[in-house]
Amino acid sequence: MNRIVNLGYVTGLDYRDPLLDPHAEFQRYKEHPFVAKLLEGGRMIRYGAKTIAAGGFYAIPQLYSDGVLLAGDSAGFLNSQRLKGIHTAIKSGMLAAQTIFEALLADDYSAKQLKRYKQLVRESWITGELKRVRNFHAAFRHGRWLGIANAGLQFLTGGRAWGLFDRTAAEPGHEAMKKLSEFGYRGADIEQRYGKLRFDNKLTFNKVTDVYHAAVAHDEDQPVHLHVLDTDICATRCAEEYGNPCQRFCPAAVYEMVEDAGGNGKRRLQINFSNCVHCKTCDIMDPYQIINWVTPEGGGGPDYKGM
Ligand SMILES: Cc1cc2nc3c(=O)[nH]c(=O)nc-3n(C[C@H](O)[C@H](O)[C@H](O)COP(=O)(O)OP(=O)(O)OC[C@H]3O[C@@H](n4cnc5c(N)ncnc54)[C@H](O)[C@@H]3O)c2cc1C
Ligand code: SF4
Repeated sequence: MNRIVNLGYVTGLDYRDPLLDPHAEFQRYKEHPFVAKLLEGGRMIRYGAKTIAAGGFYAIPQLYSDGVLLAGDSAGFLNSQRLKGIHTAIKSGMLAAQTIFEALLADDYSAKQLKRYKQLVRESWITGELKRVRNFHAAFRHGRWLGIANAGLQFLTGGRAWGLFDRTAAEPGHEAMKKLSEFGYRGADIEQRYGKLRFDNKLTFNKVTDVYHAAVAHDEDQPVHLHVLDTDICATRCAEEYGNPCQRFCPAAVYEMVEDAGGNGKRRLQINFSNCVHCKTCDIMDPYQIINWVTPEGGGGPDYKGM
């Protein structure tokens, strides 16, 4: 009998190691004897990657403006403990509809009228649910074991960090990444981080093979959706300070540092945009925040049938 196995691997986008590669970590995870046995004799059907809005309760933005309401993930309503957000997306969509209905009756779509949405969200179970897990993601900032202890105490005290504090200080994910020297990497270490990883095309695959299984398609002449504001930084500061982490955090081998054609020994950034699976990791993780991911032309991107 044929079985379909869905396998996922989550990496918090506030990691410190500049050489960490979430895709490589996923391959190593599949090499664990338990997981490898589960997948033995199988073949890959689909591959995909996507960021989720795990900022939580304290990262919820302003929910309304003139003619605008935010619902679902764009409002940061994902429960970061359960990694689930469909239920809050549906509920907030219903509350937004109620707000819009009232705005239609009043023929008023100003922020003043739409403020009612904030009140409806606050009174709904969305707020209670997200408040209970408000410090969950931050608990794991100092590693797994402290994170488990902290999360356990939160569970017992209605979400208080270490059972005591209402709120953990927050930092943007990209600020957490350390420079190579700060993390203790020297010279050859940089090449060796995943030196033992092999791609056997049965259990483990390189990024390009995986991207093929995301069924990505883009028109060659589509408007650019990956904007790098200063590519000089890639070739100079970023290469030296972080070792060009875009080559690792992108799960689709879009960013590549290649030899400059001039034969001057310099390297430059090459963007293989047609590989992009629209996960938005680069926009979040770039330590200099010079990558702007903008909404691509409709119709392109990955085709995640059955995922
Ligand atoms: C791998 C993964 C697994 C998950 N598993 C679960 C789970 O088991 N249970 C659960 O509850 N949640 C899960 N989630 C979270 C859940 O998918 C989201 O919380 C939920 O889909 C959010 O719904 P949404 O409508 O707010 O946003 P989305 O579902 O992201 O919908 C937004 C839509 O807007 C479209 N769009 C974006 N920009 C534009 C534009 N400019 N013009 C037109 N359209 C645009 C997008 O293409 C998309 O279709 C998972 C998420 C991921 C990534
Ligand atoms: S280029 Fe950015 S959005 Fe596209 S796959 Fe890579 S990290 Fe994801």
